[in-house]
Amino acid sequence: MLTQVDLNDSLCSYVREVSLRDSPLLRELREETAALPLATMQVSAEQGQFLGTLVRALGARNTLEVGVFTGYSLLCTALSLPPDGRVVACDRSPEWTDVAMRYCVRAGVAGKVDLRLGDARETLGTLRSEGRDGTFDFAFVDADKVSYEDYYESVLALLRPGGTMLFDNVLWSGLVADDAATDPDTRALREFNARRRHDDRIDLSVLTYADGLTLAVKR
Ligand code: SAH
Ligand code: CA
Repeated sequence: MLTQVDLNDSLCSYVREVSLRDSPLLRELREETAALPLATMQVSAEQGQFLGTLVRALGARNTLEVGVFTGYSLLCTALSLPPDGRVVACDRSPEWTDVAMRYCVRAGVAGKVDLRLGDARETLGTLRSEGRDGTFDFAFVDADKVSYEDYYESVLALLRPGGTMLFDNVLWSGLVADDAATDPDTRALREFNARRRHDDRIDLSVLTYADGLTLAVKR
């Protein structure tokens, strides 16, 4: 057997066919987002479902999201939280998060969402000064890549011991392993990945799923 299957279009369609549990609302959010110029920032339907499943598996109650866009990952998370669960959602775009909140309202999960508009580096600092250190079970980070190192340090403080974090796009379409790529995002992600290797504050796994995800558990 192979240790890593080669993905092609027909295998991707197959996975979608046998696993995707869609809903009209999720589909509508994907379609509304597809009309936007930056639509490709949205997590895939499968990855959204993965996030929801992970939130369930962890039994997470208090979660954090950095990088909301039009809310696909947020909606998947909020739908998976228990009725008394809360997700603090950080983004600086009122336009995009308006879309996100509109769908959360329609899904009946808006009461679980604490939306914080502004630069997420500041928002995480504010959460820390509000005494939220050690209070989050799970964090999904998917905002600007040059700030990942900053987000990491704040998120690590905000998570409880045993809490889980997931950083998206850490393989950056493969550019992290391409020496010719020297743009700021690629360099930041390369540095982020390199620094995690010997970071003894976490248990670590880099998932070669989607665009690469760093899965880390706070010790
Ligand atoms: N998880 C989303 C996609 C996030 S796209 C989904 O499933 O659709 C990245 C988001 O990060 C954008 O909405 C952008 O506004 C936000 N962002 C980028 N830099 C930011 C910053 N410094 N502070 C807050 N939000 C930021
Ligand atoms: Ca992403």
